[in-house]
Amino acid sequence: MTEFADNSILVLLDTLPDGALAKSSAGLLGGATALGTPVALLAGNPTELVAAVQNAADLGAVHVLLADTAAASKLSVTTVDALEAASRLVNPQAVLISNSVEGRDVAGRFAVRASTGILVDAVDVARDDQGIIAKHSVFGGEFLVESALTYGMPVITVRHGAIEARAEAKPLQRKDLDLSASENRAADVISFEAAEVNTSRPELRGAARVVSGGRGLGSAEKFELVGQLADELGAAVGASRAAVDAGYVPYSYQVGQTGVSVSPQLYIALGISGAIQHKAGMQTAKTIVAVNQDADAPIFDVADFAVVGDLFSVIPQTIEALQAKKAES
Ligand SMILES: Cc1cc2nc3c(=O)[nH]c(=O)nc-3n(C[C@H](O)[C@H](O)[C@H](O)COP(=O)(O)OP(=O)(O)OC[C@H]3O[C@@H](n4cnc5c(N)ncnc54)[C@H](O)[C@@H]3O)c2cc1C
Repeated sequence: MTEFADNSILVLLDTLPDGALAKSSAGLLGGATALGTPVALLAGNPTELVAAVQNAADLGAVHVLLADTAAASKLSVTTVDALEAASRLVNPQAVLISNSVEGRDVAGRFAVRASTGILVDAVDVARDDQGIIAKHSVFGGEFLVESALTYGMPVITVRHGAIEARAEAKPLQRKDLDLSASENRAADVISFEAAEVNTSRPELRGAARVVSGGRGLGSAEKFELVGQLADELGAAVGASRAAVDAGYVPYSYQVGQTGVSVSPQLYIALGISGAIQHKAGMQTAKTIVAVNQDADAPIFDVADFAVVGDLFSVIPQTIEALQAKKAES
């Protein structure tokens, strides 16, 4: 008898360059627990992943599989090799992967190898009477649709921050995977240089709170107001495409269809009209606050709290009130 449950859900967890678990892990393991028995897979250098292995169990993984891919210099393919080995061992009912750039790459390659279907950018996962389904927020968040495979094991990529369910901690059961590298063609990683992070703010993708600014900010200098409010709230900073195109902030800040998709607990939109392409990347936020001087701005259609007014008057007052509240406590 195999040591893995019949309803095992294999979860590939992303790790950061320092070996820490990516923030997406809690939601992935929460979603997997709602579907069955979560089995986590970590690929990388085992000596750097000791804490991540324990953290995966703390976040609800019943088993933690560890694949030593330290010697490999192949982009994505070694992780796919590890996923294939893990899948053969566990025989899961579904595979959950983060909808990150790397995750999408690995998911697509793995689905081809496993001759199965892929359901991308899920905002939730569930079971119905026929099996596992993924839920997707589509057409700029206007519709919530469900997808499923007609047969086979679905490979599902999950949007960061979208799944709120969390699993209870489990005692650590670790298993090291035997990995034989496939001879599949792959890009070689010749060198690796970590991008310099010169901000103490949370990363936009996966942040619990996001403050975004649009063309209404008017200039790069004035855009700093967005950062000031974000810092008061411990939030990440985002932007509309118009703000990015105008050079107020780099492209990496762009939220929307052609930028980053976020699902934070709180999303504050400042001077953003609410074009469908922007809403596509933020409409699944749990609470949306919009500040716009145009009462008919489409962003108000999706806002839980609408402030009609000049942001240059509203935001400094908001910051003052937040600071006063902090000083009181
Ligand atoms: C293929 C395609 C992909 C795209 N992808 C994206 C994407 O990923 N993300 C994205 O954001 N956009 C995207 N866009 C662009 C999108 O259509 C809009 O042009 C863009 O989102 C508009 O940005 P904005 O809301 O900042 O600017 P605007 O639409 O110009 O809105 C500015 C808003 O600021 C308000 N305002 C001005 N001054 C003040 C003030 N003092 N106080 C309060 N409010 C004020 C105005 O009333 C207005 O509503 C895409 C477009 C295309 C065609």
